[in-house]
Amino acid sequence: MADESGTPQDDCLFCKIVAKQIPATILRETDTTLAFRDINPQAPTHVLVIPKVHHPDAASLAAAEPGVAADVLREAGEIAVEEKLDSYRVIFNTGSGAGQTVFHAHAHILGGRGLQWPPG
Ligand code: 5GP
Repeated sequence: MADESGTPQDDCLFCKIVAKQIPATILRETDTTLAFRDINPQAPTHVLVIPKVHHPDAASLAAAEPGVAADVLREAGEIAVEEKLDSYRVIFNTGSGAGQTVFHAHAHILGGRGLQWPPG
């Protein structure tokens, strides 16, 4: 399989949101990241922070572009401040068995309600 990391993918939903071909409720945008509300929220605050560049998951993003991975984490913290979250969870589902459905790296920021541990 060809290494498609780093290149926008025609069949990638989040690449289309980055390109503004699909609408999203965007909260923050930087040169390297985009933060928008999840279409199917699992908590009062459920925001996705994604790198603009395409990598299939968080680990491959961090390996290829660690600075952008750090940008995603910093933006997650900025979202928590803007959403006034005292406590929150940052989740990177990785692999279909862990619930990953969109294979463009993304952080879920979940907050605004009690969160159980361990997660299901
Ligand atoms: P995953 O399951 O890959 O960890 O997370 C993908 C997330 O993308 C899911 O929480 C899902 O609700 C969200 N999602 C799927 N399609 C769309 C969409 O078109 N717009 C937005 N804003 N979120 C989406």
